[in-house]
Amino acid sequence: MRASGHLENFTDPEVTCESCHTAFRAETLLEKVRPDGVDGLTPAQIGAIVSEHHVKCPNCGSLALSVPVPFNLMFGVDWGVTSKERAYLRPETAQSSYLSFARMWDVGRRALPLGIAVIGKAYRNEIAPRQVLFRMRAFTQAELQVFFDPAGFPVPFDRVREEMLPMLRVDRRERGEETPVPVRAGDLVGPGGLPEFYVYHLVHTVRFFRDVLKYPADRIRLFEKSDAERAFYNRIQFDVEVRLDSLSGFKELGAVHYRGDYDLSRHSQGSGRDLSVHPTGRDPLLPHVLELTFGVDRNLWALADLHLTREGERTVWKLPTYLAPLSVGVFPLIAKEQAPYALALADELAAAGIPTAYDDASSIGKRYARMDEVGVPFCITVDGETLSEGPSRDTVTLRERDSRAQERVARDRLVERLRSAMPPPRPART
Ligand SMILES: [Zn+2]
Repeated sequence: MRASGHLENFTDPEVTCESCHTAFRAETLLEKVRPDGVDGLTPAQIGAIVSEHHVKCPNCGSLALSVPVPFNLMFGVDWGVTSKERAYLRPETAQSSYLSFARMWDVGRRALPLGIAVIGKAYRNEIAPRQVLFRMRAFTQAELQVFFDPAGFPVPFDRVREEMLPMLRVDRRERGEETPVPVRAGDLVGPGGLPEFYVYHLVHTVRFFRDVLKYPADRIRLFEKSDAERAFYNRIQFDVEVRLDSLSGFKELGAVHYRGDYDLSRHSQGSGRDLSVHPTGRDPLLPHVLELTFGVDRNLWALADLHLTREGERTVWKLPTYLAPLSVGVFPLIAKEQAPYALALADELAAAGIPTAYDDASSIGKRYARMDEVGVPFCITVDGETLSEGPSRDTVTLRERDSRAQERVARDRLVERLRSAMPPPRPART
């Protein structure tokens, strides 16, 4: 959002009534209380004026007005019998979690913290989609909303205290610096510092990128947003940025947002239902929200940028084995001789839960090349020896993608061998 151009777009924000779904230009809505217009105001400032003056929906009188959103970023659709009514596709999946909160509280254990994870499409009416998968009109978000008691969100902070985080904070940014410096997690908290629960989740977010997606640690930075840059709903915001050669610089791939009680208080107003909760033995309270958000398409691009390699003529997508959509390719060396055996083997592996592709087209070298390009970590070749009566009967060649090392493995050991070679990601258990 800090990209130049967006700030200008914020000058004609729109406010939607959450009761009757009518949309209004903020300027029109506020013409009585602010005759000078809203030019130059941020959405946060406009939102503050709307709530300060208790502005009502001119259509139905409801006080439940949405946060101001830039007119041209919301994806509008016409609906209703006459198509004269206006609705908007969700600009972030987060809103679905806030809408579900009361129900999740009821069906859950009625305890905080409560986490709701959502993955799905979000839509923005981008004027100029660009930068491949980075700025699109329809995109996939994966978000975790953690609802917690503002009086205390206990985390096992000692387990992350010594972790070094690649920080680029506002003070250094203002001096024009772009390189992160490693800072000990324990040095970020304390009086005047960041809350422990926040830093704890920053650590886990960095670990996810570094240890699960295997992005090189020296390409990751935590980019702090200033007061002016933060989205209007955020109290603390660090973007997780990763340096990508294909896009010539650091790109935002995720973020950790401390949203306070902004969303639940807005939705309480909007629905007319108090979303405060009553944990056992406690006074009612309105939970605060910590949001961990990830761009799925962007990360797919980053996985290609960082793991797709060229080695001479060879292109290899060195995806971590647990991220490869296909785990193994199965080939007959000579299709007309070993195809039935190889097909049966492919079915057997697939039935054992190992995502398997079968290929018998063109030369064996080309089949390996195709599997390498799409990141398949293993290939199995069935050959004459597999079908022979000799000591190699029912053995196949297993080839590993990155090293190209080959070994002879007995058919009845394959499932175990493949499973042990593809351990699930194991981020530190803290
Ligand atoms: Zn209304």
